[in-house]
Amino acid sequence: MMDKIAQYKNGLLERFLHYVSFDTQSKIGAKVSPSSAGQLKLAKHLQQELFALGLQDIEISKNAVVTAFLPSNVSPKMPTIGFVAHLDTSPQCSGKHVRPEVIENYRGGDIALGLGDEFISPVYYHFLQKLVGKTLIVPDGNTLLGADNKAGIAEIMTALCYLKENNIPHCNIRVAFTPDEEIGLGMDFFPTEKFQCHWAYTVDGGEVGELEYENFNAAKAVVTIYGRNMHTGTAKNIMVNALTLACEFQQGFPAQEVPEKTDGRQGFFHLESFVGDVEKVELHYLIRDFDRVNFEQRKAFLSMLVVDFNRKKRLRRKAEIVMQDNYYNMYDTIRKVPAAVHLADTAMKKCGIEPLHKPIRGGTDGAKLAEKGIACPNLFTGGYNFHSKHEFITLEGMMDSVKVIAKIAELAIKIS
Ligand SMILES: [Zn+2]
Repeated sequence: MMDKIAQYKNGLLERFLHYVSFDTQSKIGAKVSPSSAGQLKLAKHLQQELFALGLQDIEISKNAVVTAFLPSNVSPKMPTIGFVAHLDTSPQCSGKHVRPEVIENYRGGDIALGLGDEFISPVYYHFLQKLVGKTLIVPDGNTLLGADNKAGIAEIMTALCYLKENNIPHCNIRVAFTPDEEIGLGMDFFPTEKFQCHWAYTVDGGEVGELEYENFNAAKAVVTIYGRNMHTGTAKNIMVNALTLACEFQQGFPAQEVPEKTDGRQGFFHLESFVGDVEKVELHYLIRDFDRVNFEQRKAFLSMLVVDFNRKKRLRRKAEIVMQDNYYNMYDTIRKVPAAVHLADTAMKKCGIEPLHKPIRGGTDGAKLAEKGIACPNLFTGGYNFHSKHEFITLEGMMDSVKVIAKIAELAIKIS
């Protein structure tokens, strides 16, 4: 298998380089979906490619969600596995006029990006030392590369191509390419009813071997504290300074439970913004925890802080809190389908890759799919430094991803 699949390396590179030429940066606050026109262009291109590949039920929604089906070549009764990747790139860094450079046989040391002064160096990025001899694909220092997540799309496409052209026995496969993942809206218009599968994988992770199936439970909260303004010359016993009150309120949080002092599976409260004046202050918080019970306790803690504050201060206008859940830990769905993780583990090992299980200190489209009842762990793409001008990927890592995707589809026929 490995020899045949190796022939797909050039095709994979070509596909990837073509996809990154589409500017698909998503836009925060856009009133339309998808949030940028480039995403629909890429979606239409992928639709053509899927058609040429001979997939079935190819559909593209007006929101640029592309779905397609490759029936099993063994039996229609085989399990159905989904593969998902997103069309957009991060709003944090330009994805327009991406000019990728392919560096064969990386010799180690600094890599200058384009003609500017941006460079990537093993001094900052220790993992570069492990990549000597590999083929690196880097941007020119003006944009991100777009490996997040066009590498995922190229890898899924290449795996489909390999399975189909070589008539490798495989399960039923559904694919979906979704818009606006980076702005958290990727699953808002997802046609779940058309994406029936036993479980799915997003191909949206980082270095080779990464396998993620736990993410934060996430909520946000806004606490509003009111004061009373007065000329500072005549303020005695009259002025109530909302800024001072807000500083005091903030002291009520456990000082160690913040993003800058936590990692691994630890949760936190994050004061994201503090805006206002003497009259009124808004404190914006993010609440994160892997454990659902702890997560609920964190929210209750914050609500109690506001209650206690109001009791203690006896202000004419009470402090208010508005809280909203954003997404939940996908593990609550995945633990009911342990085969989803087991199959990915087995596929990686058969490809000679050691799986690296990691909790995601964030959310993914997979978390939203899990809420819709589809277990959806996240597989590696082989990329590094996402959302940045220093983003890059190795061609070998991308090939590893193609092998793992194909292997999952092959091994799935043995599950009944
Ligand atoms: Zn991504």
